[in-house]
Amino acid sequence: MDPPQAHIAILPSPGLGHLNPLVDFARRLVTDHNFSVTFLIPTDVPPTQTEKSILESLPSDSVDHIYLPPVNMDDLPKDTKFVTFLTLAVTRSLPSLRTILKSLVSRFSRVTLLVDLFGTEAFHAAREFNVAPYIFYTSTAMDLSLFLHMPHLDETVSGEYRHLTEPVRLPGCVPIPGTELFDPLQDRTNDAYKLVLGNAKRFREAEGIILNSFKELEPGAIEALLRNPEPPIYPVGPMVNMSPRKNDAESSSLCLAWLEKQPRGSVLFVSFGSGGTHSLEQIKEIALGLEMSGQRFLWVVRKPFQVKKEDGTTYFDRNEKPSFDFLPDGFLDRTKEVGMVMHPWAPQAQILAHPSTAGFMSHCGWNSSLESVVNGVPVVAWPLYAEQKMNAIVLSEEMKVALRPKARENGFVEKEEIAKVVKSLIKGEEGKELRNRIGKLKEAAAKTLSPHGASTKAFLEVVAKWKNQ
Ligand code: UDP
Repeated sequence: MDPPQAHIAILPSPGLGHLNPLVDFARRLVTDHNFSVTFLIPTDVPPTQTEKSILESLPSDSVDHIYLPPVNMDDLPKDTKFVTFLTLAVTRSLPSLRTILKSLVSRFSRVTLLVDLFGTEAFHAAREFNVAPYIFYTSTAMDLSLFLHMPHLDETVSGEYRHLTEPVRLPGCVPIPGTELFDPLQDRTNDAYKLVLGNAKRFREAEGIILNSFKELEPGAIEALLRNPEPPIYPVGPMVNMSPRKNDAESSSLCLAWLEKQPRGSVLFVSFGSGGTHSLEQIKEIALGLEMSGQRFLWVVRKPFQVKKEDGTTYFDRNEKPSFDFLPDGFLDRTKEVGMVMHPWAPQAQILAHPSTAGFMSHCGWNSSLESVVNGVPVVAWPLYAEQKMNAIVLSEEMKVALRPKARENGFVEKEEIAKVVKSLIKGEEGKELRNRIGKLKEAAAKTLSPHGASTKAFLEVVAKWKNQ
């Protein structure tokens, strides 16, 4: 085979939710289409072992990864929002991105730059070097629709969106109450809103937007997006990184061995993503709710947050030592026959693929949601931050594959409610219906990724463009 001349530079903003689907996408580009790829990783903090092992799992002869020189964030105030960090990690890396793009265009005849939703400031650098800029959208079609409509919303709505008396209606989407919109839209005076709006305005400058969703999941939203062809949108999902990672063996084998010993279709997997945790009170209540449900569970427990940040995001200490001493007294002992707790990370994709897993209590990050779909595992939707409340709407109201526990007005969910929802998902009639429905979506996911499926066609269309531009 000829050495690849078409090269893709991928610039993910920090976070596994952005990296994971791009890794799967890159794997397909190099193994099936003879592209070569360079991942350019912005580093506001040193990369974690998990990030490293995910990147190292890619074929090293065709995929390179470069950690961009660390950027300094010391000037940012303490209450800076997560999204501001993400965006500035990319923006402040632009000088090093330029240097690398310059070298890539000297080596390859065709270079494309792929960024995620927070990376569009890199478009200018791409244009300088005649590199075509594309977006890989890592969340729902509904969320993409919101991004594309944001400049219009910004011009036509005065005041805060959370005070709107009517829900926001996006073409083909379930109406969204203002309070459930993507977090940075909850305070229009904050820098995070301004940065997100800036990104949203640049979406129309992309040569194309690759969307990690597919028509059967969000038919209305995707049809509406495809009717509006500027920029062209390519729904290629579900892109899910199911491959086991290097250096993951010990934690993987412990919990997978435990799952092996459980009856088929009996275990609730409980995990709130790469950045989510709860207050101490809520964690204790989750423990008691799980115990009260009488169901088997595998729980990735994180240390409670000390002070809840305004936008609901929490950052656990990357070097956090395993400890469960904040769990209710005697909980571990009382539940040792039916439950396993882990910390702070689990091989989620493999757990969801395991036949013992029957349900997933999830923060509704979009990658986690897609991993549920491709494995046919119904969900207890417990959104925390970012666009997760919107995803929970998609899962429970559009796809109808999730139950949502009812919370008190202050957001607290009581143990009785947790127990009821868990039992209903694992054992109840409602759970059975959700399982049937997500089973059909699992089949649809396999079909759309098959050689003549819609997602494969969209993928081939974008590949053809990149090879011929
Ligand atoms: N993940 C994992 N183990 C964990 C927590 C998360 O492998 O203990 C993976 C998960 O499978 C998913 C990604 O990290 O691919 C999280 O992405 P998502 O979009 O669901 O949510 P985020 O946490 O990034 O908001």
